[in-house]
Amino acid sequence: SKQAGRNRFAFFEAKMGEELRMRQSAEDELRAAIENDELQLLYQPILSAQDGKIVCVEALARWQHRAYGLLSADSFIPLAEERGLIVALGEWALRRACAEAKLWPDVKVAINVSPIQFRQKDFVATVNRILTESGTDAQRVELELTEGVVIADADLAEHAMVDLRALGVRMVLDDFGTGYSSLIYLRRFAFDKIKIDRSFMESMEFSGESAIIIRSIVDLGRSLGLTVTAEGVETEEQARFLRTLGCDELQGYLFGRPVTATEIEQRLAEQRAE
Ligand code: C2E
Ligand code: CA
Ligand code: CA
Ligand code: CA
Repeated sequence: SKQAGRNRFAFFEAKMGEELRMRQSAEDELRAAIENDELQLLYQPILSAQDGKIVCVEALARWQHRAYGLLSADSFIPLAEERGLIVALGEWALRRACAEAKLWPDVKVAINVSPIQFRQKDFVATVNRILTESGTDAQRVELELTEGVVIADADLAEHAMVDLRALGVRMVLDDFGTGYSSLIYLRRFAFDKIKIDRSFMESMEFSGESAIIIRSIVDLGRSLGLTVTAEGVETEEQARFLRTLGCDELQGYLFGRPVTATEIEQRLAEQRAE
């Protein structure tokens, strides 16, 4: 079945990621890949739940590895974080996404930021510099952070968030609902948007509990004036349920897998022509 195939692929990928991490040379290979621009970004559409139009695309890193083929982020981001390469990788991703987003001026671009990258003292300055150098309007950029970001040094994180929002960048709390302190963080930090973690979608059809949690998150987000996005939407039933709840944005394989900048540009051109 399709699901079994996907599980097998996920298993294969996890195994490759594991193998890669064990390799002595992995760090050198990844460093070289970053320096030689051998990584790439794919973009996944995020749609308005209201009218089904693409409003944003999320940049997701990929590595075309000589021995392992195309590796998805899950198989090398942890390696980059362990071996001190995530700051360079993160800067590369910011620069690349800002450059490529010029192809689609009417849509926002979301970029993932590792907690380690966010904690760098010069992070805000780096973002500002890349925006200026690439001529990107800050209003078009969303930075996706996970809770890990704020746990380590809440004061530092709070200041960085304020400064980034002052630049005009939108701040997104990714994987919402997986950490146990999410509610406290929502109150303390000035997020613009929350993304309901994919794990709730996966189990949505099978247990009433996930559906209840999703409903609560949407209600909470809306009452705090936040945009609420659901990720990992794979079926029409899930999409219908999320629309009924009043979820603002939808993302997942149902609406499109991550694709190259050129392919996203094409899809947006078709959307404009409709
Ligand atoms: P994430 O930010 O939660 O990204 C969502 C992940 O779910 C992506 O995996 C995406 O391809 C996958 N996905 C999207 N829709 C569906 C769906 O309908 N069903 C299923 N089963 N999966 C879906 P990916 O690309 O492997 O990225 C994994 C994680 O790696 C990301 O999780 C993010 O935390 C991290 N990541 C990716 N790119 C970057 C980057 O440039 N910098 C940093 N720091 N982290 C990155
Ligand atoms: Ca994300
Ligand atoms: Ca996520
Ligand atoms: Ca995730």
